[in-house]
Amino acid sequence: MPKYIFVTGGVVSSVGKGTVAASIGKILVSKGYKVDFLKIDPYVNVDAGTLNPYSHGEVFVTDDGGETDLDLGWYERFLDIPMSKMNNITTGQVYLEVLKRERAGDYLGQCVQVIPHITDEIKRRIKLIGSRRGADIVIVEIGGTAGDIEGLPFYEAARQMKLEESTLFIHVALVIYLKPTAEFKTKALQHSVNELRRIGIQPDIVVARSDRMIDEATRAKIALFSTLPKEAVFCSYDTDVIYEVPLMLERQGIGEYIERLLGLPNLPSHLDEWQQIVNSFRVKNPVVRIAVCGKYTSLTDSYVSIKEALLHAAAYQNVKLEIKWIETSELENNLAMIEQLDTVDGILVPGGFGKRGAEGKLKVIEYARTRRKPFLGICFGMQLAIVEFARNVLNLKDANSTEIDPTTPHPVIYLMPEQEEIIDKGGTMRLGALPIRIKGGTMAHALYGNNIISQRHRHRYEVNPRYWESLQKNGLIISGTSPDGIRIEIIELKEHPYFIATQFHPEFKSRPGKPDPVFLGLIRASIEAAKIKDEESVKRITA
Ligand code: GLN
Repeated sequence: MPKYIFVTGGVVSSVGKGTVAASIGKILVSKGYKVDFLKIDPYVNVDAGTLNPYSHGEVFVTDDGGETDLDLGWYERFLDIPMSKMNNITTGQVYLEVLKRERAGDYLGQCVQVIPHITDEIKRRIKLIGSRRGADIVIVEIGGTAGDIEGLPFYEAARQMKLEESTLFIHVALVIYLKPTAEFKTKALQHSVNELRRIGIQPDIVVARSDRMIDEATRAKIALFSTLPKEAVFCSYDTDVIYEVPLMLERQGIGEYIERLLGLPNLPSHLDEWQQIVNSFRVKNPVVRIAVCGKYTSLTDSYVSIKEALLHAAAYQNVKLEIKWIETSELENNLAMIEQLDTVDGILVPGGFGKRGAEGKLKVIEYARTRRKPFLGICFGMQLAIVEFARNVLNLKDANSTEIDPTTPHPVIYLMPEQEEIIDKGGTMRLGALPIRIKGGTMAHALYGNNIISQRHRHRYEVNPRYWESLQKNGLIISGTSPDGIRIEIIELKEHPYFIATQFHPEFKSRPGKPDPVFLGLIRASIEAAKIKDEESVKRITA
């Protein structure tokens, strides 16, 4: 029978509950347990696909085409096990299911209520995760903070689970360090523990989230007010490498303590290899600078998988990464901003939707192509690379994507034909992992070292087949397609040190210690570019 660990949050959201949940999973897997996850998002949307990444962070795409919360990305990066759309539930999904059953007459004669009908459906979904892969332990992370109105049915279901299964409650809450008086303030954490108790949940473990390691007096105080022994209080403090959190928590003995509470044997954890990977993220030089040119750049969580994939590739190559975030909608109004690209070694244009910032991205791509700067385009970034090429190489001046300009005379990017009939916006894109055939002798083939790869997708538009021939005649290489050859998946340029773009999203499958090849290629080419630039400046100085 699987055991269930619920991870709740207190004081404020975004304190790193997801990282703590993933880290605990990492420790337990290293001990030999089989772990699965469930992320609960109490909002009413059915999935994250219709949410704005600017306010909610990136939409993480799973192999089976789920558009999910970005915490699933952390689970995958920490544990390297594929998540499914089942691993993320929302209020919307739960109600949709219950209402469907109500209409079908499954509850005839009954008054359908939050307790027991909604809570039963929540418990059913939690237990489904427990049974589907034969997990020993399921880690259930409840989004938001204790006391949120939206979360209440989920907390109630969690409370009831204690009566039915072997469960453990871990509460992660912010502790503030006041610099002027040099003291930790735990009052807000105490209040959030009280809030949990009010709804019937007594945490078994408290993880204090702080900018630095808490002292013994603070630990004792948290324990006392939480009615816990001191050894039940742990600390997750700020670190320069996020992948260190499992090591940090395991150094404090969290794995063994969890085993003890769950009545499991004390198995040794094996995190040596992980420690080495973490060390590789600490290289100080040489530095490689990459510009990420998008439109949600003020919230880096909107590009979290891109950022991590770049970090994985840089660490793998033993270089330090510096990311320059460029907001392309600003660049549109201030073309002089393009000069900022002179200071970087490589350029990445990520995925995106809609018109805002698109012309700025086109300027960036033109710069990368004509100035021979290493370039990686992803999804919308690839589509715009085609638009740029059509405008400036094929001389189709008003070429565009119909997503940006529906009346363009040269729709080089157009709506995929099977999308034309679709009206609903939720979960209807071309989604999830699909095979890609790579052409021999291309850069893509050298990078992936395979004829067939599988990568995740999330798009409605694609390269219009009408233009394939003229694109190719003018030097654009189609290096990857769908296996039936009808859709472009990878493009590259011949006379360029590194210009490659993908219709799929390679960032979702990149892992620490196992970077995705096109990211690795970008970093390698950028290191070369940086070297050449250094040599030139040395020559200039000595001349
Ligand atoms: N907006 C584009 C499309 O729907 C690209 C999507 C993306 O970058 N994920 O095809």
